[in-house]
Amino acid sequence: KLSETLDVVRYDKRMEIEDLDHKRIERELRRALADGTGFEMYYQPIVPVGSVTQPVRYEALARWVSPEMGRIAPDRFIKVAEASGLIMPLGWVLLDLVCKDMQRFEGARININVSPMQLMSNGFSQKFTEMVLTHGIEPGQIEVEVTEQIVLRDDATISQELIALSANGFTLALDDFGTGFASIGYLMRIPFDTLKIDRSFVRSIEGGQHGLRMIRSIIGLARAMELTIVAEGVETELDATRLAMAGADFLQGYHFGRPEPLDTHLQKRDPSARASAI
Ligand code: C2E
Ligand code: MG
Ligand code: MG
Ligand code: MG
Repeated sequence: KLSETLDVVRYDKRMEIEDLDHKRIERELRRALADGTGFEMYYQPIVPVGSVTQPVRYEALARWVSPEMGRIAPDRFIKVAEASGLIMPLGWVLLDLVCKDMQRFEGARININVSPMQLMSNGFSQKFTEMVLTHGIEPGQIEVEVTEQIVLRDDATISQELIALSANGFTLALDDFGTGFASIGYLMRIPFDTLKIDRSFVRSIEGGQHGLRMIRSIIGLARAMELTIVAEGVETELDATRLAMAGADFLQGYHFGRPEPLDTHLQKRDPSARASAI
């Protein structure tokens, strides 16, 4: 009895702390958006199987350092931003940062994450297309990633916006595949180009033959639908070898590189840029 009561108290306490954190993050986000500082995009290489030395794509991943709270993980602040509606202004700030970086990163092909709420606002595809063209970037250089959670919403505006983005020349990726509820019907209705297999799924190959067979059949299905397959969360050489043999087209994960600022990638590409920057 007593332990039950204590559990309830502990649970309430945790909820309270989470609630307070949430409110603090929201307040800090509002302030950061008002002066537009503290946000930065990092880029993680996505390497083609067979020529792992030359990454051809990068995924843009948001980073935020709050003067009050320090570094806050994107999983957390994106969630708060979505719950508070701040994802709309924040989303545009982040997309603008990516466009500016792409201007300095000649020929870059970049994946960007867009949350369902951004796509639910009518006119997202048009506004984003204008933004990209204004920066002198071809829509074909950008792949828009949406998570499987989007399928749960099954919202008509989202479908329309995704179809419009594809018609405007962007490619589309279904992110975190294997964690949610994407049905084959949905995959066929939206013109996805790429399927990103979630790292929790990728982890399952370490468990043995069963996981490996699952991955192989997903890749077979994706291949039949003419989708490009990216495996996420590749942490070891063994993961990489297995996924390549299972038929993945691209690999992404700490084994090939962590997300890093644009300047770090530019220096790797052209070491002389470093000397001239100093
Ligand atoms: P995601 O789009 O699935 O991004 C992949 C996440 O996995 C990134 O976490 C990346 O750092 C991490 N990762 C990559 N390789 C490995 C690996 O080998 N091992 C492990 N353990 N992790 C790996 P990150 O940067 O913390 O981002 C988390 C999530 O936040 C993203 O998941 C995405 O859903 C969201 N997010 C990040 N940036 C943005 C953004 O600009 N806009 C929106 N709407 N969401 C974003
Ligand atoms: Mg992603
Ligand atoms: Mg993912
Ligand atoms: Mg994720």
